[in-house]
Amino acid sequence: MRIIKSPQEMQQTALELKRSGKTIGFVPTMGFLHEGHLSLMKIARPECDVLVVSIFVNPTQFGPNEDLAAYPRDFERDEQLCEKAGVDIVFYPEPGTMYFDDASVWVDEETLSLGLCGGSRPGHFRGVCTVVAKLFNLVQADLAVFGEKDAQQLRVIERMVRDLNIPIKIIRGPIVREGDGLAMSSRNKYLSEMERAEAVCLFQSLEKARALFGVGESNADTLKSDMIRQIEKTSGAVDYIELVDDETLCPVTTVDRPVLMTLAVCFSGTRLIDNAVLAE
Ligand code: AMP
Repeated sequence: MRIIKSPQEMQQTALELKRSGKTIGFVPTMGFLHEGHLSLMKIARPECDVLVVSIFVNPTQFGPNEDLAAYPRDFERDEQLCEKAGVDIVFYPEPGTMYFDDASVWVDEETLSLGLCGGSRPGHFRGVCTVVAKLFNLVQADLAVFGEKDAQQLRVIERMVRDLNIPIKIIRGPIVREGDGLAMSSRNKYLSEMERAEAVCLFQSLEKARALFGVGESNADTLKSDMIRQIEKTSGAVDYIELVDDETLCPVTTVDRPVLMTLAVCFSGTRLIDNAVLAE
């Protein structure tokens, strides 16, 4: 397994691989890897000749009061996990090398990214789209795998690829959960013991809504209110709970088509997200 730090070297290597006929698969991450990330590598591995994983805590997708400095990092452990997962190249750029000081071009998605996490985190998806577009150019990937855990991000990236004609196939990876249902996340590490126990409420609220839908409840407000009640039993503060059209991400009043139930809940300073799709 090779570790490449320089963006120029990454691009040069990728172009050479492409010229020799190799297909490149790509899993972008911010590191502090867990089973969720590893599941994406497992999906990508058989689909490509060369598997590239990037580890980059991207500063442009964090707001001024967010956890950029505190974001957990452990490169040595990440390196070992990548090696075991059969990764060929880890792209691990130094923060200062990815952006020019006078960078003035950004990729802005203007519809899907406005609500949900985009509403709570202004500028977040501009940072995400820009770094992902840059990474796609550096890694020259034929395919990339993104997790359903970040459902809005996935749809925004798919839209970017469509609208900018980026020649890459996006594959969706299912959410990987802890035994009790909590979606795996690098940020779970911040939770106190009590918060960790309570954090399962995100998953439970989604499951409860699914069960209610299963017995005929299709009113979005009723389902949302029930989810809010589940979260209010804990110390978590609801950032948002929404039922939106799975494609347009516009709020729905009735579940009469595939609907994404999605929520963000803060435990002390730790913001957790989760989602599930209800289909008719
Ligand atoms: P991150 O390192 O949090 O930026 O995540 C990198 C990629 O891993 C993104 O495509 C995430 O959606 C995905 N991911 C994170 N957590 C999970 C999970 N629990 N299950 C599946 N994919 C995940």
